[in-house]
Amino acid sequence: MSRLVIISNRAPSVDGASDSGGLVVALKDALSKRGGLWIGSAPAASEDPSQSIIMHERSDFDIGLFELEPQLQRDFYLGYSNSVLWPAFHGRLDLIDVQPDYIRAYREVSKRVARMVAKVIGDDDVIWIHDYQLIPLAHELKKAGLTNRIGFFLHIPLPDLQTFRAIPEWKDIAGWLASYDVIGFQAKRDVAHLIDIFRHTLNGELRFNGNMSIDGKEISLGCFPISIDVQGFAAMAAETSRKVEPPALPRLIGVDRLDYSKGLPQRLAGYEHFLESNPGYHCKVSLLQIAPPSRDDVEAYKEIRAELEAITGRINGRFGTVDWVPLHYIHRSLPRNELAALYRYSRLALVTPLFDGMNLVAKEYVAAQDSADPGVLLLSQFAGAAEEMKEALIINPHDPQGLAKAIRRGLEMPLEERRERHEALYKRLADNDVSKWSETFIKQLELPVSTPAPEA
Ligand code: UDP
Repeated sequence: MSRLVIISNRAPSVDGASDSGGLVVALKDALSKRGGLWIGSAPAASEDPSQSIIMHERSDFDIGLFELEPQLQRDFYLGYSNSVLWPAFHGRLDLIDVQPDYIRAYREVSKRVARMVAKVIGDDDVIWIHDYQLIPLAHELKKAGLTNRIGFFLHIPLPDLQTFRAIPEWKDIAGWLASYDVIGFQAKRDVAHLIDIFRHTLNGELRFNGNMSIDGKEISLGCFPISIDVQGFAAMAAETSRKVEPPALPRLIGVDRLDYSKGLPQRLAGYEHFLESNPGYHCKVSLLQIAPPSRDDVEAYKEIRAELEAITGRINGRFGTVDWVPLHYIHRSLPRNELAALYRYSRLALVTPLFDGMNLVAKEYVAAQDSADPGVLLLSQFAGAAEEMKEALIINPHDPQGLAKAIRRGLEMPLEERRERHEALYKRLADNDVSKWSETFIKQLELPVSTPAPEA
C-alpha cells in the first residue's frame, strides 16, 4: 500500500506528547494503518539548519522535521503567514502588513521544503499538505519532478475574489493552488470563492462533475468540514465533570484563542447590552471567557489583547458588585479535559467569530452537553460550523442588540426545545466525526482525477 505523507507547518511531537491536538487525532488512524509519514517544522529554529529532513521513527508513523533559521522562520511564520495571509483570508485587509522580506521568506520556505521532501518521497506516496503556510509547496514539488497526487486542505476561510485581490501576490497564490490535484475546504462558501478566483484569474472552467479545468488539467474541489472525536470528547466531558463542582450561578462560556477574527469585542458588547437591558439578570449569571494568548509578537494581537482587557474592566466596573463578578476573563490556555467539564456546566456558549474556517469550540460544546439537560449554542453566521449546525441559535456578531436578545432567549429556552436542538446537533456531529473527515478527503485524493467529488 502506498504511504500517506502529511505535510503541515507543525508536526506532532516525536514523543507523542502533543497527540491529543485536533489534527493529530484526525490523522493518526489513517497514518498508522498504512505506515505514514508526517513532515513539519522543527520546534526550534536553528542558526545552522540541516538541508535534509530529519527523520524520527515512532511506533505508529514516522515524523520528519525540517529546520529553518530564526530570521527566515519569523518572516515566514509571523510575517507573511500571519501578518498577510491570515488577516487577508479572514477579511481583515486593514490589518495586513506587506513587507518584501515576508513574501521572500514565504516563497523560500516552500522551495526549500520541496527540495528536502523530494528526497524522501516514493513514487506511490500520496501527499496531503495542510493550510495557508505552505500553499506554494505542490507547485515547488512538481517543479522538482514529483508526479504524485497532491492534496491541499485549507483550515481557514478563503475570502471572496475582491478581498483576495488585495493581496499583492494574489495571482501567484491562485497559480499555486492550481498545482494541487484535490483542494478541500471547510465550507461551501469557500469552494464558491475558489471557483470565482480560478475563473477570473486562470480562465478556469467548472465541469459537469464539479471539478475545475485549468489549462487542460482537472482539479477536484470539495467541502470537507473538519470535526472532532465526538464520542471521545463527550465521554471526557462526562468523566471530568464528575470531579468538579458545578458553578454557583448559571454560566455563559466563551473559549477562543485571543485572535481578532473571533469577534471578542463584539461578543462582550452583546453581553454588556444584555446586562444593560436585563437588570433582572444582574447577580444571576456570569460569563467565563477563556482567551489564551496567540501570536503575541504580532502588533494586531497586542492591540486586541489591550482592547479586551479594557472592555472587561469596563463591564466589571460598571455592573459588578461586592459579591458578583459579571465577567471572568482568563488569559491562559486550559487543557481540553478541563474545558470539556466547563462546557458541560455552562448553560450557554457564545461563539461569535467575524469569520472562521470551522470553529471547533462550537462542536466541542455540543459534544460535551448532558443530553438530559443540555445547554444552548449561540453561533455566528460567519463560522464555517454554521453551515452544518443549523439548530444552534445563529447570530450576527455585528448586532449587539440581536446578540443580547439571543442570550436571553438561550437562557430562557424551555427544556424540551433545548433537547430537540441538542439531539439534532449531536446526531449530525456523531455521523460526521473527524475520522469521516480524513477518510473522505483521502478517498478523494486517491481517486482517478476525473471522478466527481462526493456530496459533502
Ligand atoms: N483550546 C484549548 N485550550 C484553551 C483554548 C482552546 O485546548 O485554553 C482548544 C479548543 O478546545 C479547540 C481549539 O483550541 O479544540 C480551538 O479550535 P478552533 O477551531 O475553535 O479555533 P482555532 O484556534 O483553530 O482558530
